[in-house]
Amino acid sequence: MGKHLVLVGGGHAHMVTLANLHKFIEKGHKITVIGPSPYHFYSGMGPGMLGKVYAPEEIRFATRHVVEKQGGQFILDKVSRIQPEEKIVLLASGKTHPYDVISFNTGSYVPRTEIKASGRDIYSVKPIENLIDAQERILELASSKTFIVSIIGGGPSAAEIAGNIWRLAKDCGKYMPNIEVFVGNNFMPRFKYGIRQKIARSLTKRGVKILEQGYVKEIANGQIILDSGRSYDTDLIFLALGVKPSPIFKESGLPTGPDGGLLVNEYLQSTAHPNIFGGGDCIHFKNQPLDKVGVYAVRANPILFHNLMASLQGEELQTFNPGGSYLLIFNMGDGSGILQKGWILFGGRLAFIIKDYIDRKFMKKFQSIE
Ligand SMILES: Cc1cc2nc3c(=O)[nH]c(=O)nc-3n(C[C@H](O)[C@H](O)[C@H](O)COP(=O)(O)OP(=O)(O)OC[C@H]3O[C@@H](n4cnc5c(N)ncnc54)[C@H](O)[C@@H]3O)c2cc1C
Repeated sequence: MGKHLVLVGGGHAHMVTLANLHKFIEKGHKITVIGPSPYHFYSGMGPGMLGKVYAPEEIRFATRHVVEKQGGQFILDKVSRIQPEEKIVLLASGKTHPYDVISFNTGSYVPRTEIKASGRDIYSVKPIENLIDAQERILELASSKTFIVSIIGGGPSAAEIAGNIWRLAKDCGKYMPNIEVFVGNNFMPRFKYGIRQKIARSLTKRGVKILEQGYVKEIANGQIILDSGRSYDTDLIFLALGVKPSPIFKESGLPTGPDGGLLVNEYLQSTAHPNIFGGGDCIHFKNQPLDKVGVYAVRANPILFHNLMASLQGEELQTFNPGGSYLLIFNMGDGSGILQKGWILFGGRLAFIIKDYIDRKFMKKFQSIE
């Protein structure tokens, strides 16, 4: 007899499953996909979209359309928690939904609790859709005055956002902003010296300021206030702080990793409930904690697809191998990229061309399903 598969979030790790929903339906299973937007935005091209290198349509996947086209049900809502014993999903709207097998690809978010923030023009870098609104506001400001954009965060997304704001204002604005990146005490501390230096040089040569004066404590009345009490004026703020997995799992009483991600075994399966799976930023892979990068979400695709089908059909599960080192390419916003894989490190136009080729190919593959 057919069973009911619920997919929560149409993120990068569910792409192959979403492309093959018809195979589940052909076998008599019912499919429901729940997400807060009819589209899923590809984060790898998000900073480029902010810089107007890409249009929003080029970097998004029409989740709702793809689900409904294959005979599945799409629910525009957010999952707030589940009741694993009763096999029920609870939605933000207050509605509930049953499942037999469930898979989470709900990604991560920028926590707002670490900094006291009040006022307008504060944009988190996730969800990627926020960058569309931020772009509009930057263009509005850039048409009338010189202004200050502050980016809070010292990781790769802060660097890419800074480079692409510069690009946006240079190509489309009348006035250039002063761009300041508040990185805490160190810029990109998780990365090797060579890559940090290349990225910092790419930004500072265009006038971007990298401030290593300490952590931001508060944002209030157009000012950024550091732990030390020192304050800086600002007109528009990006929050690019470290991301955290979606809080659904803790709320549901499921076993989680130290950061609150769904604790999964080698089958990408909850360690407590064999009918719960997950992939991407929202999981904590028990065997080996993984970086929060799209690469691992993408690598999870074939295993999640196989294991969801196997779980519904009563077949054998496959193990997930996260693989070795991954290719990193940063889009610096000036037509150049910075590429690193193992000991290989170089910057320039070629690095951007490689990133652009890989990203466009990825989108083309999944947009073709639409
Ligand atoms: C600016 C920026 C640039 C980046 N660039 C790169 C890069 O170049 N390469 C790279 O490897 N990584 C990059 N990353 C990291 C990358 O974004 C993440 O690792 C990747 O998005 C993880 O994919 P995911 O599918 O797990 O989550 P997401 O892409 O966050 O997708 C989660 C999905 O779940 C949905 N969702 C969320 N909450 C709920 C809920 N409660 N109920 C239902 N649905 C929900 C969301 O709408 C979304 O569609 C970047 C991150 C940022 C912020």
